[in-house]
Amino acid sequence: MTLQKITLHFERGGFSADVHGVAAYVCPRCGARLVPGLIAERVSETVEALFKTASQPTSSEFVMPYSSLVFQPLAA
Ligand SMILES: [Zn+2]
Repeated sequence: MTLQKITLHFERGGFSADVHGVAAYVCPRCGARLVPGLIAERVSETVEALFKTASQPTSSEFVMPYSSLVFQPLAA
């Protein structure tokens, strides 16, 4: 297994979320991907929060705050 940055794809309730640059161990033979527990937990919490926001009941008062979100470190 080698440590690489991968993209995780999630789908729920008509929305999808892609999380790029997730540190994971990838098997060079079969491509199996293992995201270390703490990282998996943090990604999961973040994505859960996004899906939760997106699934709020719609009303005239509510507008989804965004259709897409990109979060990344600024170049030094
Ligand atoms: Zn393998």
